[in-house]
Amino acid sequence: MSHPENEILLKLADPPDCTRCGGPALLHAKFTHSWKNTRGQDVNGLREAVLCSPCDGGARATDGLLALLAGADQMGLPNIQVIGGLAAAWVESVRVPPAFVHRITKYDPADRDEHGSYRGAEEAASDHGPVEAAYLEAISTFAEAAGIDRDGDP
Ligand SMILES: [Zn+2]
Repeated sequence: MSHPENEILLKLADPPDCTRCGGPALLHAKFTHSWKNTRGQDVNGLREAVLCSPCDGGARATDGLLALLAGADQMGLPNIQVIGGLAAAWVESVRVPPAFVHRITKYDPADRDEHGSYRGAEEAASDHGPVEAAYLEAISTFAEAAGIDRDGDP
């Protein structure tokens, strides 16, 4: 996968609060992001991420960066090239989209047309409501059991 127009904008001063825990973040990054949608088309967008010690600690790509930023107060501003390299690795770790997107459905895939729309005998919206809620419940239980926390939101 190639990202010919990847750009990362890093902001060390006054990053916004962490979107996950609401605590103070250490670093704010804006970066280009591309992924394939369910039809295999490339989609490009801009994403933002904040680096937060409680939320991001423990990941291989972020521990070095967190340590560097934690020491920045005592040692003055760390080398921007070192920060840049570690930050690029961190952004790369949050940039990677989920490898697969699954559609969980009660309909037979053979009843779908080439655009993925259901053309079978059942009411196309008959899986809304309680049935859909049951799917989501089952999926989140599986995901929790498997230790997955990525929700795929851009
Ligand atoms: Zn956080």
